Amino acid sequence: MLPPSPFSGQLEMSNAWFFHLVPEFLRVGMACFLLLSCAAQPAQSGKTNNGGRDFRNIYPNDEPGFLDFLKWRLSRLGKKIPPPEAYDFPKGKNNPLFLRSNREKTTLTWIGHATILLQVGGTNILTDPHFSDRASPVQWAGPKRVVAPGLALEDLPPIDVVVISHEHYDSLDKHSIVELYEREGGQDTIFYVPLGLKGWFSRLGIKRVVELDWWERHVGRGPMVIAVPVHHWSQRGVFSRNKTLWAGWVVQSKDFRFFFCGDSGYSPVFKDIGQKLGPFDLAAIPIGAYEPRWFMRYHHISPEEALQVHLDIGSKKSVAIHWGTFILTDEPLDEPPKRMKKALKEKGLREGDFLILKHGETVVLDTD
Ligand code: ZN
Repeated sequence: MLPPSPFSGQLEMSNAWFFHLVPEFLRVGMACFLLLSCAAQPAQSGKTNNGGRDFRNIYPNDEPGFLDFLKWRLSRLGKKIPPPEAYDFPKGKNNPLFLRSNREKTTLTWIGHATILLQVGGTNILTDPHFSDRASPVQWAGPKRVVAPGLALEDLPPIDVVVISHEHYDSLDKHSIVELYEREGGQDTIFYVPLGLKGWFSRLGIKRVVELDWWERHVGRGPMVIAVPVHHWSQRGVFSRNKTLWAGWVVQSKDFRFFFCGDSGYSPVFKDIGQKLGPFDLAAIPIGAYEPRWFMRYHHISPEEALQVHLDIGSKKSVAIHWGTFILTDEPLDEPPKRMKKALKEKGLREGDFLILKHGETVVLDTD
């Protein structure tokens, strides 16, 4: 709703008074214009978008409810979704010894799903670490991992920074967090989390946690880390829908800018990120978990939309995440890369502009 104008009474004055009030009228007009344009601007922080209870997206749309969820689950019964055994993804090459000693070269390793190891400027950054067998509150039920982590947790180099996009079980995995914290040097790792998640880490005894609102920034040891809005939601328990914030992350050092999208639907918010913080040297953008569109489009982008995000934010090079690891939705697990390659061709872009890596594959990035 727009705020009521405090000046509406003056507009009912006679014409004679109107001409006497021209300068005043102009001032009033300016004030009204500013008020209305402010009201039309979407709120920019998670706190102000919280409304006192639940967090909301900056550009809200008609998001689906529980009945839609039930409709989707029922519709799945009639579909032939290939089982995990139907897939045979070849493993990529990496060298844990090199990664452990490397502090000079900029490297990128896709470990699986949304887990990426980025080494830049001597800092080792890990995104949404997930090394468990299932993306689930329990390890005896729920989406099972189709491909083992491409780099084992014990083979990781020392980790300086971990960024967490949100609390869904395929992004925030308790077992992986505890193992990362308990390994040698793990107490020095800084965990960056969106609003409302610090308590979850504190209960595990983890103290080096930085909780940020959208657009807030922090400099620890090494790069600046900035939380940015994406279009998603959160839930971990039955009654916890949207009680904690979701975010993408920008990691910015002297000569390298990285954007980790986490998990998101398509939204004008990406153009905002591009305008405020772009362009980016590298972006990790989800390309999977998008079917059926009538239900998933609110919270998960398609490969074509992922390419649009790449353009919106001004990314020089992107890497595909959030695919090929857990069966979460209805599309075949190996479909997203095929659609991405087709979309790249249609836009006249090269395959190297949007990398599709094998699980565990390391690439050394040319940062010149
Ligand atoms: Zn999610």
